[in-house]
Order: sequence, then structure tokens, then C-alpha cells
Amino acid sequence: MNLANCSICDDLGVLAPNTTHNPSAGAIPCECRMAKRKEWLVRNANIPSRYQDAVLGNYETGWRGCSESQTMAKVFAQKFVDEYLTLSSGQSVLFHGGIGTGKTHLGVGILRGLIEKYGVPCYFFDQTESFEMLKLSYGSDDPRDTKKIIGPSLEAEVLLLDDLGLMKLSDWGMTTVSHILTTRYNRRLTTILTTNYPLTKPEGSTDYTLGERITERLVSRLKQMCTLVEVKGRDFREIIQRSIQHG
Ligand SMILES: [Zn+2]
Repeated sequence: MNLANCSICDDLGVLAPNTTHNPSAGAIPCECRMAKRKEWLVRNANIPSRYQDAVLGNYETGWRGCSESQTMAKVFAQKFVDEYLTLSSGQSVLFHGGIGTGKTHLGVGILRGLIEKYGVPCYFFDQTESFEMLKLSYGSDDPRDTKKIIGPSLEAEVLLLDDLGLMKLSDWGMTTVSHILTTRYNRRLTTILTTNYPLTKPEGSTDYTLGERITERLVSRLKQMCTLVEVKGRDFREIIQRSIQHG
């Protein structure tokens, strides 16, 4: 009876090299090793439990009321994953549009797609969680704590920075966000961003624009590094709520 999980390599993780044609051929990694690596990458991507199952495949666009921009945004996200290896380094994306249009789902879907397809190390930067941890570590005076919290966001090959503009300019958290973006820009690393704030002020609106939240300087930096993808549509959480109320 074979007790190994992998029947191909008996859990060795590698297969014997084929030395018939090339005597110096090295051992070949078994496909189970790649599968384990992908599982590990998903576990370490810091994806919030709420979005644990979000992949591009289950970003629904067929429903009544789904906007054309949501359909186009999904097509864009899939293309970004498919063509990732041929993109110039540091190619980034900013999904912008109203609340509840599924921008975070698309961002997480890109991370999951890149892990699944190529084994790319990805990381979800959770601002609220990170700043809570930073605040707690403030008393410790140990720079290693800050490095541990911010480090993965500076180093991950692909970062999802969700809900840009959440922090007010006056917040020291905003300085951290700005530091992360500038570092990644200089290192030519890909960043996927989402924001609920508009890039330009709609006529007659008193709502903040993204520039008013994070400075125009940072917005023009984003415009240099990102493809801007608008995700318009009705807030589907509101639609669900309404359909419940009206039976
Ligand atoms: Zn195996």
C-alpha cells in the first residue's frame, strides 16, 4: 500500500533526472511541489477572510444591472493576469469607482490568478490591520517591528493596496502609504490599487477627490505607474438589500 500523498514522486518532491540524453541533467521538481508552493503563497498573501474565495472566475458579470464598465474591468483583469510575464516591470493598476462595485474582488482575483498561473509571491496590504499593529508596536522602539509589518508590502512582487484614500492626509498612516508607493515605484514592482474616491470632482459635488485625500503629487505618481480602470455601477450590496426588502 502506498501511503504517500503524491503517487508520482512518493512525496520526494523531485523526479529522477532523465540522463539518457544529458548525463548532467538535474532532478526535476514534481508537480506536487508547485502545488504546495501555490498553497503556501495563498496562505501567506494576507488575503482577508472576507475575500478568501474571491477569484476572477466568480466575479459575476452576467446579472441584470451589471454595468458595462464592470464587465470591461473583469476582462482587463483577466488580460493582465494572462499577459503578466510580458508586461514591462512595475506595470500597475488603479481600480477606481463607487463603493460596492467589486474592485477589491477584482484586485484579489488578480493576486489569486498570478499565484495560480505563475507562482508569483503576492501580498494584500490591509491598512486598518497594519496601522493597528504599528500603533501597538510604537512603544517598543524596536525598528524591527515596523520592518516586520511594512516589509512584505515593500518587497512582494505584486501588492494589492486596497481602499486608497482611507487614511486622511493628516494621519501618519498616510506617510506610510506614500512611502510604500514610492519605494515600489522606484523598485519597479507591480502594485494593484483600489479607491472609492473619484480622480476628478463631478460637477456640483462636494465629495473629496482622491487628490484631496492623498495629495495631487501622489495621484500624478499613480497616473505614471498605473493603468486607470474605472469600475462604475450600482452598489450591489444595496441592490441585494433592496431585493430582500421587496421580497
Ligand atoms: Zn510529487
